[in-house]
Amino acid sequence: MKIIIIGAQAAGASAAAKAKRRDPNATIRIYEKSDIVSFGACGLPYFIGNHFGDENEMISRTPEQFAKDGIEIKTLHEVIAIDPKLKKITIRDIKSNNCFDDDYDKLLIAVGATPIIPPLENHQLENIFTLRNMYDGLAIKNALTNRQNSNIVVIGGGYIGLEITESLVALNKNVKLIQLDERVLVDAFDPELTQIIEETLKQHCDLHLQERVQGFEGDHKVTHVITNKAKYPADIVIIATGVKPNSELYKDLDLETLSNGAIVIDSYGKTNIADIYAAGDCVALYHRVSQSMTYIPLATGANKLGKVVGDNLAGGNNQFPGTLGTSALRVFDIEAGRTGLTEQQAIQAAIPYKTVIVKDKNHSNYVAGQTSVIAKLIYHAETRVLLGGQLAGGSGAALRTNSLATAIWANMKIDELAMMDFLYAPPFSRPWDILNIAGGIAK
Ligand SMILES: Cc1cc2nc3c(=O)[nH]c(=O)nc-3n(C[C@H](O)[C@H](O)[C@H](O)COP(=O)(O)OP(=O)(O)OC[C@H]3O[C@@H](n4cnc5c(N)ncnc54)[C@H](O)[C@@H]3O)c2cc1C
Repeated sequence: MKIIIIGAQAAGASAAAKAKRRDPNATIRIYEKSDIVSFGACGLPYFIGNHFGDENEMISRTPEQFAKDGIEIKTLHEVIAIDPKLKKITIRDIKSNNCFDDDYDKLLIAVGATPIIPPLENHQLENIFTLRNMYDGLAIKNALTNRQNSNIVVIGGGYIGLEITESLVALNKNVKLIQLDERVLVDAFDPELTQIIEETLKQHCDLHLQERVQGFEGDHKVTHVITNKAKYPADIVIIATGVKPNSELYKDLDLETLSNGAIVIDSYGKTNIADIYAAGDCVALYHRVSQSMTYIPLATGANKLGKVVGDNLAGGNNQFPGTLGTSALRVFDIEAGRTGLTEQQAIQAAIPYKTVIVKDKNHSNYVAGQTSVIAKLIYHAETRVLLGGQLAGGSGAALRTNSLATAIWANMKIDELAMMDFLYAPPFSRPWDILNIAGGIAK
């Protein structure tokens, strides 16, 4: 069995490791166009914020460690064509610029995603960055070491925009966060939650909502950001306006995709082309609540689907159970987590729903550190089965989302939360946890 994998980060590396464990005799070769493998981009905002100094801490395994396990990784090799009929691929060796072919029994496309750069005038000026890979992180960190670079504009109020804002403020930079929509985290959280996050953001940075960046000014280096409302000085700009699948490689194949190029797969990770599988940020995942294929580019899905597909590449018969899009972030002193559908997503999915909102405290008042927490739960109007939930507040808010994810995964009804045996001890919760209360008062 000869397995070829394109891309050596979360999805590709997980798949390779699992495939080798299932079939130690399989030939497994990964082609990776960068010189870095098994990289955890999730650490980048904290690397930039000086939570740690060694960028190699974001790398799980080196090519040499993979080689010891019998997995060959060819870095600085870009796959430039796939021929599904002949079951071969064409590769360009980036160092020598030579091209050659390789064949496969099974192929995994794990080419990930790339930042979306809106059509902004002069976006190629120096000190304008996106944040995706280690070199982006190193370049931003290097630019930040110049103390004169004090005015930073972050474009985009999604997860990465907010996480990097927190890190930059901690470095004593003046941060302006510009968001096109009327609120931050618009795809992940409902307004009741984003309002709290925005209040916190406003205490630490200059938040501009409903403002459109049009371009940049500067000679070689950026000096100003131009929006539809004003012109702001900027020494560094970070564009964090979402990602799109790296579909260039496969766009001319007859692969079924979503409109953004995300590959549609079945529960085994197979595409509609024989012996070609896909995983990670280049695929659409099955959403367990909306029961539709959805683009949710997260490490959680990339690792899990990668593992399932790795097993199947080597002869297994494993199924990916789907996603709830469970995710969380910290924004200064607020934690926020979400899982399943938001109210907006329930509307889009045409699911009849009800909501319950509870404002409570994270734990007992006589233990230091008591803070407010808000929970919003969405449930089916007729069956009362949980559809989604979000929490925001102080310590303990984000991890409660995992309890909700478990309940949604198990198709539990909102009412079952009322008597759920959640833990109680004064430093962690109150005798009736916020999720107990939500279950108890849901109409
Ligand atoms: C700043 C930041 C913070 C994040 N935080 C979180 C978080 O807290 N939680 C979470 O769940 N997720 C988080 N994510 C998302 C997570 O990092 C991604 O979901 C994950 O990295 C996806 O892995 P992947 O293997 O699918 O793709 P990628 O990491 O994009 O890797 C794909 C690889 O394929 C290679 N490649 C592409 N085309 C070719 C080709 N033609 N030939 C050869 N190689 C090719 C690329 O060079 C790349 O190395 C974060 C992402 C970023 C950028």
